[in-house]
Amino acid sequence: MIYLDYAASTPLDPEVAERMIPYLSAVGNPSSIHAAGRYLRAAIEEARSTIAGLIGADPGQIVFTSGGTEADNHALRGAVETWGIRHILYNPTEHHAVLHTIESLVQSRGIQAHPIAVDAVGRVELEHLEVLLRQYPRSLVAVMYANNEIGTIQPVREIAELVQTYGGYFLCDTVQVMGLGWVNVSEWPVDFIAASAHKFYGPKGVGFLYRRRPIRSLITGGAQEREQRAGTENVAGIVGMALALQKAYAQRRSYETHLRTLKAYLIQQLRERFPDVIFHGDIDLEGSHPGILNFRLPGLTHDLLLVQLDIEGICASGTSACASGSAHPSHVLQAIGVSPAEASRALRFSWGHGIEQTHLDTVVATLEKLVTFQTT
Ligand code: PLP
Repeated sequence: MIYLDYAASTPLDPEVAERMIPYLSAVGNPSSIHAAGRYLRAAIEEARSTIAGLIGADPGQIVFTSGGTEADNHALRGAVETWGIRHILYNPTEHHAVLHTIESLVQSRGIQAHPIAVDAVGRVELEHLEVLLRQYPRSLVAVMYANNEIGTIQPVREIAELVQTYGGYFLCDTVQVMGLGWVNVSEWPVDFIAASAHKFYGPKGVGFLYRRRPIRSLITGGAQEREQRAGTENVAGIVGMALALQKAYAQRRSYETHLRTLKAYLIQQLRERFPDVIFHGDIDLEGSHPGILNFRLPGLTHDLLLVQLDIEGICASGTSACASGSAHPSHVLQAIGVSPAEASRALRFSWGHGIEQTHLDTVVATLEKLVTFQTT
């Protein structure tokens, strides 16, 4: 099998799995004050310090969550409840974890949501953001670092500075770039970042929220996470996530080079074999995620192509994994002017550790075979 769906989920690093094992079977509750509890508590706090140190935060600014979706929900709902925010300015190509939460806040809280204009590759237009901020200062602004479907990178530093100038709050969903080791919250003024371990070779079902200042808890109950997130912690997941992030930051330069080399090669191969290929989003190697490529081959039915690729042992996707079951063509592609019919033919390949040029050669050759089959 050739797995080309790393943006949906990366494989679990065996060393990370190994590190988690003792915590899966360890007895006790990390909130208990006896020795068994203290052992688990110490592991959680060590993981928190490790993660905070890597991203330039204080340990107290990290809240462990069940993943990126919960971190986004916590930031949005918590900011609205804590600071009485009335306006949210958002990038229309955000993940549904952000978009559907905003929709829910509009319905339940009467919040007003304003989309920020994006250009043809999905990059937010800073001039428009400034117009909106002038009209609605002290808004909450939600713009992701890199898009999970098309890979376009946003000018997050400029956005952060603009938001700060107008006294607003900035949520940056960094789920897709955390594993690239790019995030350091001390370098630009951001209020919230969301991360998810299974996007950087950690386990599924665990992530974290960085928040500059405490906000109201999303989940109520016990006093865990300094009353910011009730519920007994996923100790093994948290420990695994910290090691996965440590490894990601340690290897960031070589990893990024590896991904970028593969991206350049794949673009070149696709252009050579399919002269009419249309790429979606920014494919500039500096302006896009080095491990994500989205494209379509005009005239081909994507559903069939994906199934056929699957039969040939190649796992790819047409949209984000969370939207895969939905009948709606990608909102991201539509936001950059791709028609619903064209959007439904898009393919997303994403790669990482373990993928080499030879795998891409097999994939491109298989694609060529299937395209010939579909068009004859
Ligand atoms: N945000 C982005 C940009 C994502 O790509 C994803 C997952 O695909 C999420 C949020 C949700 O993360 P999780 O699967 O951990 O809930």
